[in-house]
Amino acid sequence: GSKNHDKPKKPSYMTFDEIGGQDRAKQELREALDFLIKREEMQKLGIRPLKGILLTGPPGTGKTLLAKAAAHYTDSAFVSASGSEFVEMYVGVGASRVRELFKEARTRAAKENKDSAVIFIDEIDVIGGKRDGGQHREYDQTLNQLLTEMDGMNTTDSPRIFLMAATNRKEMLDSALLRPGRFDRHIAVDLPDKKGRLHILKLHAKNKPLDEGIDLEKVAEESFQFSGAQLESVMNEAAIYALRDEASAIGQRHLDMAIDKVMMGEKTDRETTK
Ligand code: ATP
Repeated sequence: GSKNHDKPKKPSYMTFDEIGGQDRAKQELREALDFLIKREEMQKLGIRPLKGILLTGPPGTGKTLLAKAAAHYTDSAFVSASGSEFVEMYVGVGASRVRELFKEARTRAAKENKDSAVIFIDEIDVIGGKRDGGQHREYDQTLNQLLTEMDGMNTTDSPRIFLMAATNRKEMLDSALLRPGRFDRHIAVDLPDKKGRLHILKLHAKNKPLDEGIDLEKVAEESFQFSGAQLESVMNEAAIYALRDEASAIGQRHLDMAIDKVMMGEKTDRETTK
Protein backbone atom coordinates (compact mmCIF):
# COMPACT_ATOMS: atom_id res chain seq x y z
CA GLY A 1 0.00 0.00 0.00
CA SER A 2 0.95 3.64 -0.28
CA LYS A 3 1.74 3.80 3.45
CA ASN A 4 4.68 1.52 2.91
CA HIS A 5 6.21 3.46 0.07
CA ASP A 6 9.36 4.37 1.97
CA LYS A 7 10.05 0.83 3.16
CA PRO A 8 12.80 -0.97 1.23
CA LYS A 9 11.40 -3.19 -1.47
CA LYS A 10 11.52 -6.88 -0.60
CA PRO A 11 14.20 -8.51 -2.75
CA SER A 12 13.17 -11.43 -4.92
CA TYR A 13 15.89 -13.71 -3.60
CA MET A 14 15.91 -15.70 -0.39
CA THR A 15 18.61 -15.70 2.27
CA PHE A 16 19.31 -18.15 5.09
CA ASP A 17 18.37 -15.41 7.58
CA GLU A 18 14.79 -15.43 6.33
CA ILE A 19 14.41 -19.12 7.11
CA GLY A 20 13.30 -19.80 10.67
CA GLY A 21 14.76 -22.58 12.80
CA GLN A 22 16.50 -25.33 10.81
CA ASP A 23 19.87 -24.29 12.26
CA ARG A 24 21.42 -27.70 11.67
CA ALA A 25 20.06 -28.03 8.13
CA LYS A 26 21.28 -24.54 7.25
CA GLN A 27 24.72 -25.31 8.67
CA GLU A 28 25.00 -28.62 6.80
CA LEU A 29 23.80 -27.04 3.58
CA ARG A 30 26.29 -24.19 3.82
CA GLU A 31 29.07 -26.70 4.39
CA ALA A 32 28.02 -28.74 1.37
CA LEU A 33 27.86 -25.60 -0.77
CA ASP A 34 31.32 -24.51 0.39
CA PHE A 35 32.50 -27.92 -0.77
CA LEU A 36 30.96 -27.30 -4.18
CA ILE A 37 32.42 -23.83 -4.46
CA LYS A 38 35.92 -24.88 -3.48
CA ARG A 39 36.06 -27.66 -6.02
CA GLU A 40 39.71 -27.16 -6.93
CA GLU A 41 40.93 -27.31 -3.34
CA MET A 42 38.92 -30.45 -2.81
CA GLN A 43 40.39 -32.04 -5.91
CA LYS A 44 43.91 -31.33 -4.69
CA LEU A 45 43.13 -33.27 -1.55
CA GLY A 46 41.71 -36.08 -3.64
CA ILE A 47 38.20 -35.60 -2.29
CA ARG A 48 35.51 -36.95 -4.57
CA PRO A 49 33.47 -33.98 -5.82
CA LEU A 50 29.98 -33.66 -4.43
CA LYS A 51 27.27 -34.08 -7.04
CA GLY A 52 23.78 -33.63 -5.67
CA ILE A 53 22.24 -32.48 -2.41
CA LEU A 54 19.06 -34.17 -1.23
CA LEU A 55 16.79 -32.45 1.28
CA THR A 56 14.55 -34.86 3.14
CA GLY A 57 11.68 -34.22 5.51
CA PRO A 58 7.96 -33.53 5.87
CA PRO A 59 6.11 -31.02 3.66
CA GLY A 60 6.20 -27.32 4.42
CA THR A 61 9.39 -27.30 6.45
CA GLY A 62 11.32 -24.96 4.17
CA LYS A 63 13.09 -27.21 1.67
CA THR A 64 12.23 -24.93 -1.24
CA LEU A 65 13.33 -21.90 0.77
CA LEU A 66 16.66 -23.61 1.51
CA ALA A 67 17.23 -24.34 -2.18
CA LYS A 68 16.54 -20.70 -3.05
CA ALA A 69 18.86 -19.51 -0.29
CA ALA A 70 21.51 -21.89 -1.64
CA ALA A 71 21.27 -20.15 -5.01
CA HIS A 72 21.77 -16.76 -3.39
CA TYR A 73 24.61 -18.03 -1.18
CA THR A 74 26.52 -19.38 -4.18
CA ASP A 75 25.59 -16.44 -6.44
CA SER A 76 23.84 -18.82 -8.82
CA ALA A 77 20.83 -18.60 -11.08
CA PHE A 78 17.88 -20.64 -9.81
CA VAL A 79 15.56 -22.96 -11.73
CA SER A 80 13.12 -25.41 -10.24
CA ALA A 81 10.65 -28.09 -11.20
CA SER A 82 8.49 -30.60 -9.41
CA GLY A 83 8.77 -34.33 -10.05
CA SER A 84 5.10 -34.44 -10.97
CA GLU A 85 5.74 -32.13 -13.93
CA PHE A 86 7.72 -34.91 -15.59
CA VAL A 87 4.94 -37.42 -15.48
CA GLU A 88 3.37 -37.62 -18.91
CA MET A 89 1.24 -40.01 -20.77
CA TYR A 90 3.63 -40.26 -23.67
CA VAL A 91 6.92 -42.07 -23.42
CA GLY A 92 9.90 -39.78 -23.82
CA VAL A 93 8.22 -36.52 -22.88
CA GLY A 94 9.42 -36.71 -19.28
CA ALA A 95 12.96 -37.39 -20.45
CA SER A 96 12.97 -34.45 -22.81
CA ARG A 97 11.64 -32.21 -20.01
CA VAL A 98 14.62 -33.22 -17.89
CA ARG A 99 16.92 -32.23 -20.76
CA GLU A 100 15.10 -28.91 -21.08
CA LEU A 101 15.44 -28.20 -17.38
CA PHE A 102 19.23 -28.54 -17.52
CA LYS A 103 19.31 -26.45 -20.67
CA GLU A 104 17.19 -23.77 -19.06
CA ALA A 105 19.56 -23.64 -16.08
CA ARG A 106 22.50 -22.99 -18.40
CA THR A 107 20.62 -20.35 -20.37
CA ARG A 108 19.42 -18.62 -17.23
CA ALA A 109 22.94 -18.49 -15.78
CA ALA A 110 24.28 -16.99 -18.98
CA LYS A 111 21.48 -14.41 -19.09
CA GLU A 112 22.03 -13.40 -15.47
CA ASN A 113 25.78 -13.37 -15.95
CA LYS A 114 26.39 -16.01 -13.29
CA ASP A 115 29.01 -18.76 -13.27
CA SER A 116 26.62 -21.32 -11.83
CA ALA A 117 23.01 -22.38 -11.55
CA VAL A 118 21.08 -24.25 -8.87
CA ILE A 119 18.57 -26.75 -10.23
CA PHE A 120 15.98 -27.73 -7.63
CA ILE A 121 13.71 -30.73 -8.21
CA ASP A 122 10.92 -30.97 -5.63
CA GLU A 123 9.14 -34.33 -5.11
CA ILE A 124 12.01 -36.21 -6.72
CA ASP A 125 10.39 -39.48 -5.58
CA VAL A 126 7.79 -39.09 -8.33
CA ILE A 127 10.43 -39.68 -11.03
CA GLY A 128 13.08 -41.35 -8.89
CA GLY A 129 10.96 -44.03 -7.25
CA LYS A 130 12.23 -47.57 -7.05
CA ARG A 131 12.20 -49.26 -10.45
CA ASP A 132 10.29 -52.49 -10.52
CA GLY A 133 11.39 -54.51 -13.49
CA GLY A 134 9.90 -52.62 -16.38
CA GLN A 135 6.41 -51.86 -15.19
CA HIS A 136 6.82 -48.12 -15.49
CA ARG A 137 8.85 -47.69 -18.65
CA GLU A 138 8.01 -44.01 -18.92
CA TYR A 139 9.37 -43.27 -15.45
CA ASP A 140 12.45 -45.31 -16.28
CA GLN A 141 13.28 -43.10 -19.24
CA THR A 142 12.82 -39.95 -17.21
CA LEU A 143 14.96 -41.25 -14.39
CA ASN A 144 17.62 -42.51 -16.82
CA GLN A 145 17.75 -39.09 -18.45
CA LEU A 146 18.27 -37.48 -15.04
CA LEU A 147 21.08 -39.94 -14.25
CA THR A 148 22.68 -39.22 -17.64
CA GLU A 149 22.53 -35.47 -17.01
CA MET A 150 24.07 -36.00 -13.57
CA ASP A 151 26.91 -38.07 -14.93
CA GLY A 152 27.71 -35.42 -17.52
CA MET A 153 27.31 -32.55 -15.07
CA ASN A 154 30.19 -30.09 -14.77
CA THR A 155 32.41 -31.87 -17.25
CA THR A 156 32.49 -28.62 -19.18
CA ASP A 157 33.43 -25.70 -17.02
CA SER A 158 30.84 -23.01 -17.33
CA PRO A 159 28.25 -22.57 -16.01
CA ARG A 160 28.48 -25.04 -13.17
CA ILE A 161 25.34 -26.83 -12.06
CA PHE A 162 24.50 -27.41 -8.42
CA LEU A 163 21.78 -30.01 -8.30
CA MET A 164 19.37 -30.13 -5.37
CA ALA A 165 16.26 -32.21 -4.81
CA ALA A 166 13.68 -32.73 -2.11
CA THR A 167 11.54 -35.61 -0.98
CA ASN A 168 9.47 -36.56 2.01
CA ARG A 169 9.83 -40.23 1.11
CA LYS A 170 13.52 -40.95 0.99
CA GLU A 171 12.97 -44.69 1.52
CA MET A 172 11.08 -44.78 -1.80
CA LEU A 173 14.01 -43.55 -3.88
CA ASP A 174 15.75 -45.79 -6.37
CA SER A 175 19.23 -46.72 -5.15
CA ALA A 176 20.72 -45.45 -8.44
CA LEU A 177 19.92 -41.93 -7.25
CA LEU A 178 21.55 -42.36 -3.88
CA ARG A 179 24.85 -43.83 -5.03
CA PRO A 180 28.12 -41.90 -4.56
CA GLY A 181 28.43 -39.45 -7.43
CA ARG A 182 24.67 -38.94 -7.51
CA PHE A 183 22.68 -37.46 -4.62
CA ASP A 184 25.48 -38.14 -2.21
CA ARG A 185 24.76 -35.54 0.47
CA HIS A 186 21.54 -35.87 2.44
CA ILE A 187 20.25 -33.14 4.71
CA ALA A 188 17.30 -33.73 7.04
CA VAL A 189 14.83 -30.86 7.22
CA ASP A 190 12.58 -31.80 10.12
CA LEU A 191 9.63 -30.18 11.83
CA PRO A 192 10.84 -27.23 13.90
CA ASP A 193 11.25 -27.49 17.66
CA LYS A 194 9.80 -24.82 19.96
CA LYS A 195 12.73 -22.46 19.46
CA GLY A 196 12.48 -22.91 15.70
CA ARG A 197 8.73 -22.33 15.76
CA LEU A 198 9.19 -19.09 17.67
CA HIS A 199 11.78 -17.94 15.13
CA ILE A 200 9.44 -18.76 12.22
CA LEU A 201 6.50 -17.01 13.91
CA LYS A 202 8.61 -13.91 14.45
CA LEU A 203 9.69 -13.87 10.82
CA HIS A 204 6.08 -14.06 9.64
CA ALA A 205 4.93 -11.47 12.19
CA LYS A 206 7.39 -8.91 10.85
CA ASN A 207 4.99 -7.27 8.40
CA LYS A 208 1.95 -7.47 10.72
CA PRO A 209 0.74 -5.19 13.52
CA LEU A 210 0.66 -7.08 16.84
CA ASP A 211 -0.97 -5.98 20.08
CA GLU A 212 1.52 -5.05 22.76
CA GLY A 213 2.02 -7.90 25.15
CA ILE A 214 1.38 -10.60 22.59
CA ASP A 215 2.96 -13.82 23.78
CA LEU A 216 4.47 -15.50 20.72
CA GLU A 217 6.30 -17.89 23.03
CA LYS A 218 2.92 -19.28 24.08
CA VAL A 219 1.95 -19.66 20.41
CA ALA A 220 5.19 -21.54 19.79
CA GLU A 221 4.44 -23.76 22.78
CA GLU A 222 0.93 -24.55 21.55
CA SER A 223 1.82 -25.19 17.92
CA PHE A 224 3.60 -28.46 18.67
CA GLN A 225 4.45 -30.39 15.47
CA PHE A 226 3.39 -27.54 13.18
CA SER A 227 5.45 -27.08 10.03
CA GLY A 228 6.80 -23.72 8.89
CA ALA A 229 4.04 -23.54 6.30
CA GLN A 230 1.43 -24.08 9.03
CA LEU A 231 3.00 -21.42 11.22
CA GLU A 232 2.86 -19.01 8.31
CA SER A 233 -0.86 -19.89 8.06
CA VAL A 234 -1.35 -19.23 11.78
CA MET A 235 -0.03 -15.68 11.43
CA ASN A 236 -2.08 -15.11 8.30
CA GLU A 237 -5.32 -16.50 9.78
CA ALA A 238 -4.79 -14.44 12.94
CA ALA A 239 -4.61 -11.31 10.79
CA ILE A 240 -7.86 -12.30 9.10
CA TYR A 241 -9.55 -12.78 12.49
CA ALA A 242 -8.29 -9.34 13.54
CA LEU A 243 -9.77 -7.84 10.38
CA ARG A 244 -13.14 -9.47 11.12
CA ASP A 245 -13.01 -7.96 14.61
CA GLU A 246 -12.22 -4.60 13.05
CA ALA A 247 -9.17 -4.57 15.30
CA SER A 248 -6.16 -2.50 14.28
CA ALA A 249 -3.74 -5.16 15.46
CA ILE A 250 -3.59 -8.91 16.04
CA GLY A 251 -4.53 -9.91 19.59
CA GLN A 252 -3.76 -13.06 21.54
CA ARG A 253 -7.26 -14.45 21.00
CA HIS A 254 -6.87 -14.07 17.24
CA LEU A 255 -3.75 -16.17 17.47
CA ASP A 256 -5.49 -18.75 19.66
CA MET A 257 -8.32 -19.07 17.15
CA ALA A 258 -5.83 -19.28 14.29
CA ILE A 259 -3.96 -22.16 15.94
CA ASP A 260 -7.25 -24.06 16.31
CA LYS A 261 -8.20 -23.35 12.74
CA VAL A 262 -4.89 -24.55 11.29
CA MET A 263 -4.97 -27.63 13.53
CA MET A 264 -8.55 -28.43 12.43
CA GLY A 265 -7.71 -27.77 8.79
CA GLU A 266 -4.99 -30.38 9.02
CA LYS A 267 -7.46 -32.93 10.38
CA THR A 268 -10.02 -32.40 7.65
CA ASP A 269 -7.29 -32.57 5.02
CA ARG A 270 -6.20 -35.93 6.34
CA GLU A 271 -9.74 -37.24 6.57
CA THR A 272 -10.53 -36.31 2.99
CA THR A 273 -7.35 -37.74 1.50
CA LYS A 274 -7.72 -41.08 3.29
P1 ATP B 1 7.02 -29.13 0.20
O1 ATP B 1 7.85 -30.35 0.46
O2 ATP B 1 5.57 -29.28 0.52
O3 ATP B 1 7.27 -28.47 -1.13
P2 ATP B 1 8.84 -27.35 1.51
O4 ATP B 1 9.58 -28.04 2.61
O5 ATP B 1 9.53 -27.13 0.22
O6 ATP B 1 7.46 -28.08 1.31
P3 ATP B 1 8.52 -24.53 1.47
O7 ATP B 1 7.87 -24.49 0.15
O8 ATP B 1 9.94 -24.15 1.56
O9 ATP B 1 8.34 -25.98 2.11
O10 ATP B 1 7.67 -23.70 2.53
C1 ATP B 1 6.36 -23.30 2.26
C2 ATP B 1 6.08 -21.97 2.94
O11 ATP B 1 6.02 -22.16 4.36
C3 ATP B 1 7.17 -20.94 2.72
O12 ATP B 1 6.93 -20.15 1.60
C4 ATP B 1 7.13 -20.13 4.01
O13 ATP B 1 6.12 -19.14 3.96
C5 ATP B 1 6.72 -21.14 5.04
N1 ATP B 1 7.87 -21.77 5.71
C6 ATP B 1 8.17 -23.09 5.72
N2 ATP B 1 9.27 -23.34 6.44
C7 ATP B 1 9.70 -22.15 6.90
C8 ATP B 1 10.80 -21.75 7.71
N3 ATP B 1 11.68 -22.64 8.18
N4 ATP B 1 10.94 -20.43 7.97
C9 ATP B 1 10.05 -19.53 7.50
N5 ATP B 1 9.00 -19.85 6.73
C10 ATP B 1 8.81 -21.13 6.46
